[in-house]
Amino acid sequence: MTPAFQTVTRYAYLALFAALAVMSWKFNRSRVFFCILSMALCQALLALKLPTVIPPESFQHEAFVFMGIFIPANILVFSFFKERGIFTLWGALRIMLLILQCLLFLWWSGINGHSLSSVFTTSRLWKVGSLLPGISQPSMIVSLLAMAVLMARGIICKSFFDMAFTAVIPMSAAAAGLQGENLAVPVFYAFAGLVMLIAIIQDSYFMAFRDELTGLPSRRALKHEMMKLSGHYTIAMVDVDFFKKFNDTYGHDVGDQVLRMVSAVMRDAGGGGKPFRYGGEEFTMLYPGKGVKEALPYLEELREAIAKRKFTLRSHKRPKKKPKKRGSGTAKGKQLSVTVSIGAAERCDKHRKPDEVIKAADTALYRAKKKGRNCVCK
Ligand code: GH3
Ligand code: MG
Ligand code: MG
Repeated sequence: MTPAFQTVTRYAYLALFAALAVMSWKFNRSRVFFCILSMALCQALLALKLPTVIPPESFQHEAFVFMGIFIPANILVFSFFKERGIFTLWGALRIMLLILQCLLFLWWSGINGHSLSSVFTTSRLWKVGSLLPGISQPSMIVSLLAMAVLMARGIICKSFFDMAFTAVIPMSAAAAGLQGENLAVPVFYAFAGLVMLIAIIQDSYFMAFRDELTGLPSRRALKHEMMKLSGHYTIAMVDVDFFKKFNDTYGHDVGDQVLRMVSAVMRDAGGGGKPFRYGGEEFTMLYPGKGVKEALPYLEELREAIAKRKFTLRSHKRPKKKPKKRGSGTAKGKQLSVTVSIGAAERCDKHRKPDEVIKAADTALYRAKKKGRNCVCK
């Protein structure tokens, strides 16, 4: 590696961290901010030129052992904290918590000359450097525990950040373990930074194109999908019947449950239809490559599946308006069902553009409502 390239490698992560700091602040992703702050604090400890009681090389070694525990432990602890911003009182408290831990280590090891690694070598269980010089057994245990917890949460909650931090932990452990050998810290930090950057981008993309309530692709995603369409396709507009009445009778929370139920049925529907939440209680089903005649049996199936699906009242919450009938349905455990009306239209010479096909589907939906609801019209 040429000296110039070495210099770039040594400082590239700082540019990435600066970008991440701004993004995590603007996008309100404080976990990323606190993760890069804890990494930066470790770098500050390593770069410190204080007259320490122990020789500088020994202090560096201690700092790496500290880093091996400090970073995974804080990533794990911070993952349980709620998102409460960076430049807020909560954010300030968290920043102070991180700085305090570093100062405590500095005071304990640098000023009083205690050795973290010797604490860990007093018993066989806490041996330092069994794998790499800077990875102590507590560091291994904390890292593995944090990775297991974050990975489980990442899978269960489908969280990009938990998955990203699961990858960041072994990277920071490797940086600590290699003890600064061959630019290990800047290189692993840069990789960790990239992983977090990808998580921010993925999360933002997901937020922009997914509907939060139902998890279905949003109207914006439908717009993008429609731009890719060519040839034959059918668009169906699906609208929940008397949804306003449903909301007024059982409350907004139960209304939300209905929307989730309808979206779940739509997701499982056959015929290669792609479901979207168009807005409110309206959904769209897109059938690429299918004419309206081919799509109709699947839409009929979908309508029937929704009408047949019973769901149980789970919410104790009161409806916004007073129920019309006394005792009508707010009792927990009551079985409810809803119906939908569907209007479908295909691309043809009359409706060539996707917007025109949607309009035609809307007109068909209007006919379905007029016909008495719970039916499919084309
Ligand atoms: P129709 O059979 O003619 O479609 O009647 P409707 O009552 O379903 O139609 P309308 O458009 O009058 O009412 C739609 C209601 O959907 C009004 C609004 O309060 C409700 N709504 C829209 N978005 C949401 C949501 O995200 N959650 C809940 N719970 N309700 C919603
Ligand atoms: Mg509607
Ligand atoms: Mg409706």
